[in-house]
Amino acid sequence: MKVLKFGGTSVGSVDSIRQIQHIIARQTDDCIVVVSALGGITDQLLKAAHLALETGEEYMEIYQQIRQRHLDMIHTLITNTTVQQMLCHEIERILDELRSILFGVHLIKDLSPKSEAAIVSYGERMSSRIVTAALPGAVRKNSLEFIRTEHKHGQILLNSELTEQLIHENFTPIPHLAVCPGFISKDGKTDEITNLGRGGSDYTASILAATLNAEVLEIWTDVNGFMTADPRLIPEAYTIQSLSYVEATELCNFGAKVVYPPTIYPVCAKNIPIRILNTFCLDNTGTIIQAQAEKDARHVCGLSSIRDVAMITVSGLSMVGVIGVNQRIFGALAAAGVSVFLVSQASSENSTTLGVQEKDCDIAVEVLTREFAEEIKVGSMYPMLVQQGLAAVSIVGEKMHNTPGIAGKLFGTLGRNGISVIAFAQGAKETNISFVVPQQQLS
Ligand code: ADP
Ligand code: ASP
Ligand code: MG
Repeated sequence: MKVLKFGGTSVGSVDSIRQIQHIIARQTDDCIVVVSALGGITDQLLKAAHLALETGEEYMEIYQQIRQRHLDMIHTLITNTTVQQMLCHEIERILDELRSILFGVHLIKDLSPKSEAAIVSYGERMSSRIVTAALPGAVRKNSLEFIRTEHKHGQILLNSELTEQLIHENFTPIPHLAVCPGFISKDGKTDEITNLGRGGSDYTASILAATLNAEVLEIWTDVNGFMTADPRLIPEAYTIQSLSYVEATELCNFGAKVVYPPTIYPVCAKNIPIRILNTFCLDNTGTIIQAQAEKDARHVCGLSSIRDVAMITVSGLSMVGVIGVNQRIFGALAAAGVSVFLVSQASSENSTTLGVQEKDCDIAVEVLTREFAEEIKVGSMYPMLVQQGLAAVSIVGEKMHNTPGIAGKLFGTLGRNGISVIAFAQGAKETNISFVVPQQQLS
């Protein structure tokens, strides 16, 4: 059995859904197909929700565009009139529900996270119905019935145990061809609609593949595979044929949008390979992600970057040699739900520099200032130093390990090009070197 996930661009138009029909027609194994919302619809749903909250009737314009795009697609794609009528009827019912929720937000001028999650779920609810109708013999399996989440540390995380149990209940026996909406889920306790985060359809597919022991997880998208860099930033980027799970995780965590970061772990734990393939170029072999990259892999397999980064420096002479300062820093940040993606500390120990996303910067500074208020008051530590408008870059490759000269080459290249490095970090596993530069020097 295979799990195939099709992203927004792959379900975005009638032509792209015809490509999916073509891809599925070639399959010989049982298949579970996971789909995203039609490309751009999730953003439009969020926009409609915020317009309903903040303005007059403008949200209805976006709603009408969403409605028309789905109905037009059905009319062109589904030629059997009975199927077409039934599907239109079902989609109209779902759209009426969406309009009522948007109207509720508009009327009472309140958009809770709960309402936002409900609104944003409609994209996948509709796309999964359209794709099911377009694939002969397919049955629809509703992810809201088996993907369960829980609230933990201020975040919405997968409730793995409950999800696995429900997937087994819903997929025994495994259908020959099933279609599921990606991204959407429900809270295990309250039954409220939640989701797995932006880009989360990849994760839905990985959870299904791992739980049902698929032979492979195929991620079908709009590029020829995992590339050496974001092709929108670096036009010379080329497809990487093979990556290890570790390399792929490092690249995704550092902004390679092609795979949503939590996707790798469930299939890695079961040693199930991931293939990244292009829906629009079927001859291409794409990228394979598995336990070990192929033997001829290069030292550096790729690089990725994150924009809108802030660096916060916690410093003071009283930190030198004092055990537990880092525990306090990370404890305070974890309690506030702030994730730190880069840490740099020199051996003098008088400062620790942390890389966070700019959107988390204010809250991070606030909690750290509170945590060290006593020390700052008596002058044994300094107020937090903040630098914004930065970008972080990571170069990745498992074969960098034990290979001298890579860091020298990296910093030499940056220096020759007049790029000053604000902070950098390299773990002892040597699979990744990360550094921070001013954002305007990113490209
Ligand atoms: P989908 O809608 O199929 O989920 P996404 O837009 O989420 O597609 O991811 C695919 C996009 O990721 C590509 O179009 C590309 O612009 C971007 N991208 C960023 N970094 C990389 C990379 N290293 N390799 C390939 N694509 C990348
Ligand atoms: N539709 C969701 C998003 O745009 C999930 C996904 O596409 O994976 O983020
Ligand atoms: Mg995606």
